[in-house]
Amino acid sequence: MDRIIILEDLDGFEFEEVCKKIFESLGWRDVRMGPRTSDAGRDIIMVSPEGETVIVECKHHLWRTVGRPVVQKLHSAVIYFGAKKGFLITTGYFSQEAVEYASRLGGVVELIDLRRFKDLADKAGFVVYEKRKDMSRRVLLTYTPEEAVKAIEDEIASMVSRPHAPLQLVRRSGTKLVYRPAYLASYSVYRETYTSTGRLIDVIDAEGSVILDGRTGDPLDYPADTFRDCRLVQSPSQVGKGVIVPPLINTVEAKEKAVDYVITKHTHLVIYRRKNSFKRIYIKSVSPKWSDVKILSIIPLYLPKLELEYSALLHNYKVVCDLAHKYSRLYRVNELSTCTICRKKLRPSKRVLCNECGGIAHFGILIKHAFICESCGKTVCRYCAVRRRKWLIFMKTYCHGCAQHLPQK
Ligand SMILES: [Zn+2]
Ligand SMILES: [Zn+2]
Ligand SMILES: [Zn+2]
Repeated sequence: MDRIIILEDLDGFEFEEVCKKIFESLGWRDVRMGPRTSDAGRDIIMVSPEGETVIVECKHHLWRTVGRPVVQKLHSAVIYFGAKKGFLITTGYFSQEAVEYASRLGGVVELIDLRRFKDLADKAGFVVYEKRKDMSRRVLLTYTPEEAVKAIEDEIASMVSRPHAPLQLVRRSGTKLVYRPAYLASYSVYRETYTSTGRLIDVIDAEGSVILDGRTGDPLDYPADTFRDCRLVQSPSQVGKGVIVPPLINTVEAKEKAVDYVITKHTHLVIYRRKNSFKRIYIKSVSPKWSDVKILSIIPLYLPKLELEYSALLHNYKVVCDLAHKYSRLYRVNELSTCTICRKKLRPSKRVLCNECGGIAHFGILIKHAFICESCGKTVCRYCAVRRRKWLIFMKTYCHGCAQHLPQK
């Protein structure tokens, strides 16, 4: 967890330690804390990969503004230590005067504000959250459990069923809400590819988002881009009591998995010809490098799933609803829409509920796996129907009860 930075939890000294770690991860050498000065601030003195001495001043002033005097002070320190330049890092912003003053110094003092600090931390493999609340896992929700149950029960109610109403026979026997951990990562990627002679042959320039499993880090088949306008994002207790599945990977690991995903997604082949030999075709596999991918945000989430069980006479049905899915793809599993005779999918308007066994079956013009008793009007599936020939030509279908009372030929 030491690669996760929660800014609001850090005091000034801890922030300096964090900055030290970031530069060490980026390959800076000899990173050490300078002497403590009167205003309780210490500088970091370090040597760049190119061998230049740089002084870093860290101002953990979250969301606040840093003014010109701080730039001036760092400039004096740079001169005092005989350093090449100074970095002024803040978790806030710089005032207009500070920016103007620094530009007059001609690059001796480089200003790093909150946004640039996050970039720097990202490059070093850290994940930065401004508030602790940002890393608590919230629930991605499109449908509430009540809405999902209503949608299913409306579907059940629309089945053709006689003499009993569908909901008199199909009853809910089990309800379970499960929260699965996930991460929503948004990214941007940019890479230019050149031939050995310096000709540009490919540009990868994209952004997007992906939802990763919180236990394996594998990408999940959610259209992540559509979640921007997701209706409710809140804590599990506000959605309903359920089983919370703990995550197995942390934010930093999830971020690495997201980068892997982006690299794989944008790896492709480029076909090109060389300038002086147009006859030959070259094929090159192009893929972004780790440093070409920028993870803009990584949000820990729960994806709620509602697992329902229904029973109807001799049959049991399982329905799994994905409460975080958009575009009415509510069901992951819906046995209520599968014909119990042929196991094929049923359209809502073509479902018949057998009042003998509780089976749901096809009732179309071409496919008929259910019938209506000619005598009493009861709906029956093919297994429960009795077919009798009338005048040697017509076939008539009856329920078991009525078939027993028919005159035997
Ligand atoms: Zn069927
Ligand atoms: Zn039946
Ligand atoms: Zn009948």
